[in-house]
Amino acid sequence: MKVLIIGNGIAGMSAAIEAAELDDEVILVSPVQSERTQSVMAAEGINAVVDTAEEDSVVWHANHTLESGCFLEKEEDVRNLCEKAPEHLKWLDEMGVLFDRNEDDTWKVKASGGQSRKRTVYSGNSIGKQIVTAMTQKCLEYEIKGKIEKKIGLYFYSALIQDEKCYGALFYNPESKMLIPVYADAVICATGGMNKLYGKTTGSELNDGYVTGKLFLQGVQLRNLEFIQYYPTTVQRGNKRVIISESVRSEGWRLYYKNRSHSVYFMEEKYGTEGNLMSRDLVAREIAMCPGQVYLENAKESIPVTPAIHFFMGGIKVDGMHQTNIAGLYAVGEAASKYHGANCLGGNSLMTAVHSGRTAAHAVHEGQGQPMCEELFVPYVEHEQEKIDRIEQMSEYRGKYSATATLRKLMKIMSYGMDLIRDGEVLQDSIYALDSSLNELRTFPIDPMVSVYENYRLYPMAVLGKATLMSAVERRESRGAHFRKDFPSEKAEFMKCSVAEFKDEKIRIYFEQESGEKGGAVR
Ligand SMILES: Cc1cc2nc3c(=O)[nH]c(=O)nc-3n(C[C@H](O)[C@H](O)[C@H](O)COP(=O)(O)OP(=O)(O)OC[C@H]3O[C@@H](n4cnc5c(N)ncnc54)[C@H](O)[C@@H]3O)c2cc1C
Repeated sequence: MKVLIIGNGIAGMSAAIEAAELDDEVILVSPVQSERTQSVMAAEGINAVVDTAEEDSVVWHANHTLESGCFLEKEEDVRNLCEKAPEHLKWLDEMGVLFDRNEDDTWKVKASGGQSRKRTVYSGNSIGKQIVTAMTQKCLEYEIKGKIEKKIGLYFYSALIQDEKCYGALFYNPESKMLIPVYADAVICATGGMNKLYGKTTGSELNDGYVTGKLFLQGVQLRNLEFIQYYPTTVQRGNKRVIISESVRSEGWRLYYKNRSHSVYFMEEKYGTEGNLMSRDLVAREIAMCPGQVYLENAKESIPVTPAIHFFMGGIKVDGMHQTNIAGLYAVGEAASKYHGANCLGGNSLMTAVHSGRTAAHAVHEGQGQPMCEELFVPYVEHEQEKIDRIEQMSEYRGKYSATATLRKLMKIMSYGMDLIRDGEVLQDSIYALDSSLNELRTFPIDPMVSVYENYRLYPMAVLGKATLMSAVERRESRGAHFRKDFPSEKAEFMKCSVAEFKDEKIRIYFEQESGEKGGAVR
């Protein structure tokens, strides 16, 4: 089998290594080297119930994952993830990941974000860096053996889809200004979250949602877009929000705001002595509701903190083997919506990146593959290349349109509409505001002052933004990370996943029901 993997973070590399181990041929594509992906930023650890776990079990891990996701996920898939997690850790260990160890050489474990049990295995404060380093080395070994071919410096342009089957993908090379088709038996999309759509988040700016937005326009279904996790305590550094680890609160740091001359320890006042240790989304929401700037303090210092977008539970809809609704197209890692439901336990996202990558590689290996039909896409590739050439030829043109201003507007609309505390009217207003940008972007305006990629990414990003806002409008309840001021409680009728579909130039949102019956909104 020939497998094309887009994205070389932990999910993409897990898929690549597993596929190479299965003796499949891998092409791994990314604009940057693995060392620059968001995966490197992961700090706290990765979840699995290991031998040293105290008062824990795989059943508990699965139950906590299902509960934190507000029971939106399929139980079988979550149990499978938690059962396989210890084996995935051994796989990483054998690959050379340096986990912190006890004196008897067993792995150290701690409790992280939203968990009462110690099931997070860690590597000091740099779990992501450790895993990426070991995986990069492993990929290199397979490159030398000719099993993995890396193509760095290429940006995804579109998937090569015909009759609901995927045959490969088209990439843009900013050096040669050329579109490059890559054909394969299967494509695994491992392109991370949608951070850039919201401006300043804790994650990588490289993950802009373009790939997800473009695939959506090409008929790929998305799911649970309204569920976005905010990290409660972050500080601004340049264009990013940097997290202040939750563990400082278990070491005695306290949250407060100032009311004239005195400090209000709002979490302790509302939830008692354990108030500062409450779950991620609850603390984030309480901070958002405070009347003034919130600070985190210990005996020596006091730091102003703000919640910021951290993790996307929503993304590309996949089945238990990570296949999308398009044959031959798979999605893994943070790009896929799976396992986390309405909220994600700290440490689970890295485990799902590894698990989903390996699962998809197996599914591809056992699948049928697609017959190569390169000639089918020749007219399409030529047509799209003409569009790229047109942008290039406009380099002297000085019009009024600014892609940078449009992106800023998009980010402002999205962060306002999809704030921690949401409201139906604000969400509707955000959709109207986004519609005016979409009308402009539909005419394919060109800004010669920015790169070709920065021009062509905006329309799919805006469509993805609209689908997200519509999903949040349609979920008329509060559940997990989605909090609606106008519908503050959870409703049994919404114990379903939202699905977004793009058909006949319209976005449709519906809620997944066992019967397959669909209702919902179309715009
Ligand atoms: C600060 C921080 C700390 C975290 N700490 C933890 C933790 O301790 N434990 C935990 O479990 N989780 C943690 N997470 C979450 C976790 O790191 C991510 O969910 C996980 O690393 C995602 O991996 P991924 O491979 O799916 O995506 P990424 O690592 O984001 O990789 C995405 C890939 O897609 C590529 N790509 C993007 N756009 C394009 C494009 N247009 N064309 C082609 N390729 C593209 C990128 O180059 C990259 O290769 C943390 C996240 C952050 C931000």
